[in-house]
Amino acid sequence: MNIKDLFIRNKDVLPPPQKAAAAKTKTSSKVTAKQLWVKCPSCKRMLYERLVVENDQVCPACGHHFRLTAGERLKMTADPGSFEEFPFEIEVSDPLKFPDYPEKLKRYRKETGLKEAVVCGVGKIHGLETVVCVMDSHFMMGSMGHVVGESITRSVEYATEHGMPIVIFTASGGARMQEGIVSLMQMAKISGALQRHSDAGLLYITVITDPTTGGVTASFASLGDVIVAEKNALIGFAGKRVIEQTINQRLPQNFQRAEFAQECGFIDIIVERSKMKDTLWKLLYMHMFPETRGEEKQRHERQGGEE
Ligand SMILES: [Zn+2]
Repeated sequence: MNIKDLFIRNKDVLPPPQKAAAAKTKTSSKVTAKQLWVKCPSCKRMLYERLVVENDQVCPACGHHFRLTAGERLKMTADPGSFEEFPFEIEVSDPLKFPDYPEKLKRYRKETGLKEAVVCGVGKIHGLETVVCVMDSHFMMGSMGHVVGESITRSVEYATEHGMPIVIFTASGGARMQEGIVSLMQMAKISGALQRHSDAGLLYITVITDPTTGGVTASFASLGDVIVAEKNALIGFAGKRVIEQTINQRLPQNFQRAEFAQECGFIDIIVERSKMKDTLWKLLYMHMFPETRGEEKQRHERQGGEE
């Protein structure tokens, strides 16, 4: 590494010293430091939060993809005003009467403004109507309980019934331990629904985002006709340390990262966040209208769509 690379040259990435000082002064009154600055977990640089937000939550210095909320993801994916959430009313299952589970759910609902760890509905991607499910790791680490599993299953069934493609963004710590076996059953249920969707000749695209682990990896995250991943997304079943202890071997540095999974043939394509919507559109279009593929591609490029 060149010594110069250790310093950021791009003035847009870090403010000049006097601006930084002004920003700091401001923190003493209304704006907190937390709102102004964010530390990149990858390159450890302090960044203006506004610049990170404007850059689709990607570190302008090293390209680290910050985790998104379901709302942020939908805003980047669906055409403005096109997304309509399914009005599912599904009761939470608490078969183990797990201590504090209902209170925990209440707290997460208040904190995130979400009903559960997934948001499902129908939206348009550059005009193409598709069923979209987005998991949110901010809600109980995106863990999959009965409500998450049932919501995704019903969304897949809706897509099958209406002859529509489905795109699922995965972000999950795995099955929700508070629901015991019920959470594990979701894996089989969703997989069954996806099989019927596939039998109907319909397209299912998985977008693996950071982190996708456990029962979600072991079921629907791995079942896409096309498996897309975000840069450096963590993907695995058990944790790295557990595997190392079990097999008594050191694992590679980038083990369970999207790039490593792609080398092993598990992932078809790694897409940068800024190109995700266009890539999904292309995949959907190729599947919907294979015969006009070339013409439409040219038209889209003329209109300024990115390659
Ligand atoms: Zn960074």
